[in-house]
Amino acid sequence: MLENKGESRTAISSLGEFKLIDHLTDQIVIQNKSTIKGVGDDCAIIENRSNEILITTDLLIEGVHFDLSYMPLKHLGYKAVMVNLSDIYAMNGSANQITVSIALSNRFTLEAVDELYSGIHLACKNYNVDLIGGDTTSSTKGMLISITAIGEAKKEDVVYRSGAKSGDLLVVSGDLGAAYLGLQVLEREKQVFQVNPNAQPELDNYSYLVERQLKPEARKDIVKILSELNVKPTSMIDISDGLSSEILHLCKQSKVGCNLYEDKIPLDQQVISTCEEFNISSTTVALSGGEDYELLFTIDQSDFPKIKGNPNLSVIGHMAEESEGANLITRANQKIELIAQGWNALETD
Ligand code: ADP
Ligand code: MG
Repeated sequence: MLENKGESRTAISSLGEFKLIDHLTDQIVIQNKSTIKGVGDDCAIIENRSNEILITTDLLIEGVHFDLSYMPLKHLGYKAVMVNLSDIYAMNGSANQITVSIALSNRFTLEAVDELYSGIHLACKNYNVDLIGGDTTSSTKGMLISITAIGEAKKEDVVYRSGAKSGDLLVVSGDLGAAYLGLQVLEREKQVFQVNPNAQPELDNYSYLVERQLKPEARKDIVKILSELNVKPTSMIDISDGLSSEILHLCKQSKVGCNLYEDKIPLDQQVISTCEEFNISSTTVALSGGEDYELLFTIDQSDFPKIKGNPNLSVIGHMAEESEGANLITRANQKIELIAQGWNALETD
C-alpha cells in the first residue's frame, strides 16, 4: 500500500552503530540559541535559562502505537515528534529541543531508518526545534521510538490542567474526530489489500481524515494566537485520547464540573459524511476518537470578546461547580453524564 518501495536495501549491520548515528545526524543545523551542544558528546548542553523548563516524553511501540503496513516511516517520524511538541504547547510553552531514541530489529534497513529520520528532521525544521541527542540500540522484534521534548515558558505564562474555575468558557482549537476516522479508513484498506494485493487504496473521499491520522500538526500556532490576543487560558490540555477524557482531566484537576454542548463540537464536513457512511455517531467519534492533537482550554468569561469569531477556536461549553458533574447537553437538550472512553471503546470487536 503506502510502504516505501525503494530499490536499495542496506543492512544496518553493515554500518555499525556509530556510523549509523553519524549518518542520521550529520545534516543537523542547530536553530535555537539555547542549544549549546547537540549530538556528538556524552551529553547535549542547553543554556541555563531563567524561564521554567518543560519536559515531556513518549514511548511508541510497533504493533501497539503504530502499524507500519499503513503508516509510512516518514510520517511516523513526523508524528512521533508532533505528539511530544503538542504536550509542550499544551503548557502554553515553546519547544526548543528533542532527543530521539530508537530500537530496531534486523528487519529494518538503512533506507527505512532514513525515511523515519526524514520525517523527524522535517518536523524539527517546521517547528524550529533542534534534535540534540538520543540513543540507538537493537531490538529482538519490531521498532521502538522514544522522543523527549524540552521547552520553556515564562513562569507567569505556564498553564496547568488545574486552573479552571466555575463559569469559565471551554474552548477547543480546530475540529475533532478526523484522525480516528482516518485510522478506520486505513484499517479497512489494509484488509482489502490483504485479500487482494493488487487493490489500489481508495482514499480520495477521505483525504482530510487520512492526513489527520498520518500527518498531524501540533498547534504551535494556537499558542501564538492566544498570546497575540492577550488571552491566558486558565487551564489547558492537548487532545490525545478524545475530547471526553481530556475534559474529565481538566474537571478533576481543577475540581470543577462542566457542561459540554453537543451542537457546538466542531466537525469537518468529511467527518460528518464519513460517519453517515459508516453509520456511527459523529459525537461519539469526537468524544472518544483521540489523536486529534488539538488544544482544549478554558478562559475567563471576560476574555470571550477577544476570541469571539476566531475561525481557529470554538467555544463548546462552560465549566460549572464540581457538584454539578461533567455533562454532555445533547441536541435534544438532554443532560447526560460525560464518561471517559478512550478510542478502544469504539472498537466493535
Ligand atoms: P553514549 O555511548 O555516550 O550513549 P552514543 O554513542 O550512544 O553515546 O551517542 C553518541 C551521540 O549520538 C550522542 O550525542 C547521542 O546523544 C547521539 N545519538 C545516539 N543515538 C541517536 C539517535 N538515534 N538520534 C539522535 N542522536 C543520537
Ligand atoms: Mg548511547
